[in-house]
Amino acid sequence: ATENIALITLFGAAGDLAHRKLYPSLFKLYQKGYLADHFALLGTSRREKSDEEFQALVADSIKDIKETKAGEAAAFAKHFFYQAHDVTKPEHYDVLKDRLAELDQQFVTKGNRLFYMSVAPQFFGVIAMNIKKQGLLTDEGYNRLIMEKPFGRDFASAKELNDELSQTFEENQIFRIDHYLGKEMVQNIQALRFGNTIIESLWNNRYIDNIQVTLSEKLGVEERAGYYDNSGALRDMVQNHIMQVVAQLAMEQPVSFTDSDVRVEKIKALRSLRVYTPSEAASNFVRGQYDAGADTPAYRDADGVPADSATETFVAAKLLFDNYRWSGVPFYVRTGKKLADKFTRIDVVFKKPLIDIFANPRMTSDQSLKSNVLTIYVEPESGFALRVNAKSTGQGFKTEPVDLKFLQSAAEKKEAPEPYERLFHDALEGNHTNFASWAEIAYSWKFVDVVRKLWDIEEPQFPNYAPGSMGPAASDELLARDGRAWIYKL
Ligand code: NAD
Repeated sequence: ATENIALITLFGAAGDLAHRKLYPSLFKLYQKGYLADHFALLGTSRREKSDEEFQALVADSIKDIKETKAGEAAAFAKHFFYQAHDVTKPEHYDVLKDRLAELDQQFVTKGNRLFYMSVAPQFFGVIAMNIKKQGLLTDEGYNRLIMEKPFGRDFASAKELNDELSQTFEENQIFRIDHYLGKEMVQNIQALRFGNTIIESLWNNRYIDNIQVTLSEKLGVEERAGYYDNSGALRDMVQNHIMQVVAQLAMEQPVSFTDSDVRVEKIKALRSLRVYTPSEAASNFVRGQYDAGADTPAYRDADGVPADSATETFVAAKLLFDNYRWSGVPFYVRTGKKLADKFTRIDVVFKKPLIDIFANPRMTSDQSLKSNVLTIYVEPESGFALRVNAKSTGQGFKTEPVDLKFLQSAAEKKEAPEPYERLFHDALEGNHTNFASWAEIAYSWKFVDVVRKLWDIEEPQFPNYAPGSMGPAASDELLARDGRAWIYKL
């Protein structure tokens, strides 16, 4: 492992995300030797805390991770410092500036500064502005900004935010987190496609019939109701995670596997995604909201949700790319809460052979060949399966589908870094491959905005699906209309 040299400033250091994901990820990087002597983190949030109290908080967040050497967790916590700070007060940044200068000296971080915004998105702009105005940037090492989602509420607000950020940071200094891009099997899409002739040579409209992406959640809205009701599945899942996964599936082969070459191709793919007219959006998008179940309340009865909420907890859609590779191949996507199970998978459905010679009536067979399907299991299992037709054992001649399947073992899964660990590592190394660029975000908002506007004016018929199902009936009809069906069904 190459040791990274960095001084991290974390805004939102007392927050939930920092405690659950960020400190544990940094600790894993520390254990693996990616961070060692020359790193320090200055945590900030509103409340006063001493460095020792903060170090205790960090120690608590990593207490479940096994040490690889005695005293490791304590040594790690010694790299953490704290400064009470209100992000909206320019004068508060003066103190930060001094402390950063001290820590830079103390840990010899060579002016490498990484600013991580793990606060509510309304603060993203003001923080970036003050980082520059109050002189927190260095001109010695690098200046980088990592930011959490959401990136805007629509194209206009996203652009406004991006304009604010770009007063301080160049595009190649900004790392926008989309944690789906940190998932092992989402990254594996590229290996699978561009490392295998037998896959990439079939990866087009001559051989693929349709592609299906499902991001299914079992939980309801739980404690995040206030945030969620203001957002909905379209903004919370489709605009970012689904569009990023779809871009990886649809992109052309990059010239090389570098972040800049990969970016170019993802942007091109999203540029060729057909932006619907409102009436096309109405027929190609389905929304849903969950009803009450036997022992669970309906979305509208959840704490913090208005009784007449029109927020969607489910979206299904048909996406079309207007380019040579994908013309005529629908990408069906769906995501929702309170569905049958928690999983993410991709099903690539291939065309059937043009002629089914086994369906010859003289063979007295009532069978028909099934489509080949390449399933990419993103989570909870990681792996893939290729469904092929084979002869069933025995007298006569019948075919049956069998799966060529590879799943990561439990041991491999345990070893695999969590998304935040990977993404932190990539940002420390300055690698943008697994982050969303502004252009990608802009295209996906423009695509989503049409649907959002339509849904904001039309009253939905909610609730319309039962907990534990796979969403409203209209989601199945979306495919049935095209003579197709979801590969994963109950
Ligand atoms: P949180 O509410 O738990 O923490 C927010 C932090 O911001 C706290 O430390 C708080 O003290 C600080 N803060 C608030 N106002 C401040 C101010 N004026 N000045 C300085 N600090 C201030 O939030 P969170 O759940 O940790 O989420 C942080 C970010 O990460 C948000 O953008 C959220 O959308 C995103 N996110 C969170 C999760 C998650 O699982 N928690 C998942 C994905 C994205």
